[in-house]
Amino acid sequence: MVRGFQSGIVAQQGLIAHGRGEAFDYLFGETTPKSSRLATKAAVALLLGARNPVISINGNTAALVPQDIVKLARSVPAVLEVNLFHRSLARERRIASLLKRNGADQVLGLEAKARMRIRGVASPRRSVDAHGIGNADVVLIPLEDGDRAEALRKAGKAVIAIDLNPMSRTSRSANVTIVDNIIRAVPELLRITLRMKPLSKSRLSAIVSNFDNGKNLGKAMQDMIHYMQGWEA
Ligand code: ATP
Repeated sequence: MVRGFQSGIVAQQGLIAHGRGEAFDYLFGETTPKSSRLATKAAVALLLGARNPVISINGNTAALVPQDIVKLARSVPAVLEVNLFHRSLARERRIASLLKRNGADQVLGLEAKARMRIRGVASPRRSVDAHGIGNADVVLIPLEDGDRAEALRKAGKAVIAIDLNPMSRTSRSANVTIVDNIIRAVPELLRITLRMKPLSKSRLSAIVSNFDNGKNLGKAMQDMIHYMQGWEA
């Protein structure tokens, strides 16, 4: 993260947001909670069953999992779009070129003329690519802010979040929330995608319909409590 900050990929605010995430990671013993495995399967089912899946990329995601997020996009396949809260063209370009160095063919979000707005978002993140998030039916939003997660839902999109805080607005408003550290969640998403690729559309849609995000967030809280109850100094 520090290297990402020094090379202009991560914003100052991104460092603080990372610390918020790490605080929750300690409450799970820095391991993948059981509840997140179910969410990962539902997320993969959504991605593989989508018409136009898009993965939204911010500075933290690019700094932490540049190679695995590109591999995930290629294996679904899904479009990659840079979308920043603290936006600057220079940072967008640096993130896009980092993704390209890690194997991405195309990265959307930089072409000013293809932009459209998502209603209900006050930050610069409201501006999206009309051929990317604008046209997506399923959007994976790792490390997102609550406003945009809610606005994407209101815009009729299915939202997959990766967020270590099971109580955040993002976690609560997504269709599927993977409560895990992005550095563990993305390699796992990739592994499960490769495994679930042969499944039929009807099987994928049954996995999505059987998943209840509210209930699973409750399980994530239970996982946290369970870990803390078993901890002895
Ligand atoms: P919200 O607006 O959703 O209520 P917030 O104000 O904390 O939450 P942001 O700071 O924009 O929103 O979001 C960052 C989120 O990302 C936080 O919930 C934090 O727990 C989470 N986070 C930070 N680092 C990681 C990480 N490495 N892996 C997973 N989640 C992370």
